[in-house]
Amino acid sequence: MLTKEYTCTACPKGCKIEVEYEGEEIKDISGYSCMKGKEYVEDEFHDPRRILTTTVKIKQAKYPRLPVRTNTGVPKDRLDCCLDMLIKVELEAPVTIGDKVVEDVCSTGISVVASRSLEKKDR
Ligand code: SF4
Repeated sequence: MLTKEYTCTACPKGCKIEVEYEGEEIKDISGYSCMKGKEYVEDEFHDPRRILTTTVKIKQAKYPRLPVRTNTGVPKDRLDCCLDMLIKVELEAPVTIGDKVVEDVCSTGISVVASRSLEKKDR
């Protein structure tokens, strides 16, 4: 039997949770203080995901880059693909917070949205 240790990030308490597993199967989970923590490590073990936050190029705006984020967690093994794709994106102002700037990034079905608004720059 193998073990992995996780720090639960579902609340500030940060419980250390240990998972015992064989192959893809969880055999035991210990150290959690509530069911949120148990669900957190089950998700982390089977399908770890992260919200991706970064910036993309934008033309004709006050700033040269626009902060963006995914609208939900991206599978960890697709994060590099998403970053590679977003490096190539160039938008044009104006953009409004919440606007979809990329749909179905890396065929994940996940959208990338603007984290702030940027007006068109006055000339
Ligand atoms: S297991 Fe529960 S109490 Fe512990 S960090 Fe996670 S959410 Fe908080």
